[in-house]
Amino acid sequence: MTESLLKDEEEKIKTFKDLKTDIIDNDLCCSCGACVSYCESQSFDVLKMEENSPRFKSKANQDNCTECGVCYFICPQTTPLIELMNQKYSIKDKLGPIRDLLAGKTTREKIKEIGQDGGIVTTILLYLFETHQIDAAVVSEYDKKLQPRPKLIYNKEDLKKSAGTRYSVSSQLFPLKDLYNIPSQIIDEKRIYNIDQLRIAFVGTPCQIRALRKMKFLSIKPAHVVKYSISLFCFENFYYDKLYDILKEEKGISPSEIKKATIKGRFIIETRSNETLDVELKTLDNAVRPNCKICDDFTGRFSDISVGSSGAPKGYSIIISRTQIGEELIKKMLSQNYIIAYIPSEEGLEWKEKKKKLFKKMISSKEKK
Ligand SMILES: Cc1cc2nc3c(=O)[nH]c(=O)nc-3n(C[C@H](O)[C@H](O)[C@H](O)COP(=O)(O)OP(=O)(O)OC[C@H]3O[C@@H](n4cnc5c(N)ncnc54)[C@H](O)[C@@H]3O)c2cc1C
Ligand code: SF4
Ligand code: SF4
Ligand code: SF4
Repeated sequence: MTESLLKDEEEKIKTFKDLKTDIIDNDLCCSCGACVSYCESQSFDVLKMEENSPRFKSKANQDNCTECGVCYFICPQTTPLIELMNQKYSIKDKLGPIRDLLAGKTTREKIKEIGQDGGIVTTILLYLFETHQIDAAVVSEYDKKLQPRPKLIYNKEDLKKSAGTRYSVSSQLFPLKDLYNIPSQIIDEKRIYNIDQLRIAFVGTPCQIRALRKMKFLSIKPAHVVKYSISLFCFENFYYDKLYDILKEEKGISPSEIKKATIKGRFIIETRSNETLDVELKTLDNAVRPNCKICDDFTGRFSDISVGSSGAPKGYSIIISRTQIGEELIKKMLSQNYIIAYIPSEEGLEWKEKKKKLFKKMISSKEKK
């Protein structure tokens, strides 16, 4: 499919040089890491991620580019494929397909403590690990400098480090390149000898899910091992340094003092000394990534399941099942009591329609930014 599409779309194949001119130099890159991840997984030895930005490793490495064009096609910020994907995945509007919509929360006490909202994302991954439906998951963690970093985890025990929201970029596509090097301990433990045996769940923002879906649409490896894609709702994201510079200036607070950050109309910080501070979102405007200012996906329309807090009752998350595999998974988790659903006081259908209206409104206010 790749070859015929490449021929149809353009006579001249666009490569990373075009990605740099069209996307990166225009501040449209969302730092998903897909371009570098793919190129590195093929051992082309051309690209690297530096400070969350993709670039050529060096002038000499630039000559290694085979001009395959895959990096340009899978970039979530480029237009090729989107129309074809909309047709294939029945995406008729910016909210995307919805098979079911509910609010839910985890039943697991430990996840209640560490989850951002209803702890749904962590509980989905826990369920998939415990029922042996996945061997690994791509999540986000803090590194030693407390910057968000993508992480490929192979065990449910590692979920406690990933729960919660980090309001800066974590290049979630980047670890896919490591799937070809399964750690020997995992080979022994899980008896997985080949990448094709792996089954992965992937968590990311809507733009990252779009990159993943583009890879899957083109049958680009290693995305073939991703069995479940979970999108977080996302209104905007921030440059790490700029965000913490502003928070330092406004509230005298540094990353190591922050226990939890939430956006609920304002940017709310819970400190390690149990103080609650908040900052007007307008104050953080200079830290918002430019690519987020032109983003029209709030709920992750290319995912199997989308999860967010907007419109959810306190302590719950909204869960949108978009595909058959997503819907079946949530139904099983409900029946096996991993999560419980919120029962709205008004008639269920009316409640769902109100939520859909709210999300459509949020998408259009996002576009007007
Ligand atoms: C930048 C950003 C902006 C968001 N904006 C909104 C919003 O406007 N409205 C809204 O309703 N929800 C928003 N969310 C989603 C929300 O904060 C929660 O992540 C979501 O409700 C899931 O909650 P949970 O308790 O089920 O997740 P948890 O069980 O706590 O799991 C959270 C998951 O998110 C992953 N994660 C954390 N940070 C990142 C990151 N930076 N990039 C990729 N993955 C990450 C972790 O790996 C973990 O798997 C945003 C999330 C992010 C990352
Ligand atoms: S080899 Fe292919 S994926 Fe790598 S930079 Fe060149 S065009 Fe992009
Ligand atoms: S694929 Fe991702 S990291 Fe690469 S240029 Fe596009 S948005 Fe940036
Ligand atoms: S606002 Fe859009 S572009 Fe920015 S991180 Fe969220 S999904 Fe990606």
